[in-house]
Amino acid sequence: MPDFNPTQYAVPLFVVAVLAEMIWAKLRAPEAYEPRDTLVSLAFGLGSTVAGALLGGFALTLFIKAYDYRIFDFGPQWWAVWWAWPVCFVLDDLKYYWVHRAGHRIRWMWASHVNHHSSQHYNLSTALRQSWTGALTFGFLFAVPLVLLGFHPAMIAICGGLNLIYQFWIHTEAIRRMPRWFEAVMNTPSHHRVHHATNPRYLDTNYAGVFIVWDKLFGTFTPEVDDEKIRYGIVKQLGSFNLLWAVFHEWIGMLTDIWRAPWKHKLSYLLREPGWSHDGSRETSDMIRAKWQARVGTVAPLATSVADRNPIAGEQEAA
Ligand SMILES: [Zn+2]
Ligand SMILES: [Zn+2]
Repeated sequence: MPDFNPTQYAVPLFVVAVLAEMIWAKLRAPEAYEPRDTLVSLAFGLGSTVAGALLGGFALTLFIKAYDYRIFDFGPQWWAVWWAWPVCFVLDDLKYYWVHRAGHRIRWMWASHVNHHSSQHYNLSTALRQSWTGALTFGFLFAVPLVLLGFHPAMIAICGGLNLIYQFWIHTEAIRRMPRWFEAVMNTPSHHRVHHATNPRYLDTNYAGVFIVWDKLFGTFTPEVDDEKIRYGIVKQLGSFNLLWAVFHEWIGMLTDIWRAPWKHKLSYLLREPGWSHDGSRETSDMIRAKWQARVGTVAPLATSVADRNPIAGEQEAA
């Protein structure tokens, strides 16, 4: 079994690209980089690699166990079945879409994924801002169907690594638009800027990893408009460059809410969308968008389908 994680081989490329973008920013967009923010993002990248090594063992053990129950068998030389690779890559990207969508719709999973969104800047270093606490969300369970289909855990891990590497370059403001055909099928800087935006019109959209078609298929696609400045980050900004606060703030917030809530609402603070509160004292992204729509007096394309876009919690979340 080929034992390698493709992401680590891409690190030199990441470093060179970040430095190149820093030079571009110095000349063209000085606000794109903030040194303290970049340092936090890099620490996130480093820490998530360590956390993955420490906590990833449990997921791997589970996958190897599940692999014993596979429906299809690609044989002992599964890696030589060439067509299994693209099929696995596409299915893994579909899995990524759903795990990412759940990461925005279930507060328990958002407590980890928020790390990727908490920078108010959008540059290549933001791509390296990966969570330390991903294993605590059990998001890896989304990959079990792929294992049961017969894809070897190593093949899934390699496809997942390539997926992550692809997502690196889309974290930039240096590229406005790719060719039209590319924008139609692939996730791009333009589509992913929308995903990182806190502007009401953009909240909870464009969850894609590599192929933007999933968002178009499942009703969560929003194109970038050129006449509105994007505000990056999260609805309630961190307001600090403290690394440990950046890592754990949402876990602390969620556990505090659960502790304080009446018994019958405790579970909802774990499983419902970020911003939900039992007394309506806070705002979900649904509420924020509704307010915005009332203000601008138009109905945005997503408005009518908002209520039935959440298959898990039945409502919307703040991102
Ligand atoms: Zn996200
Ligand atoms: Zn991103």
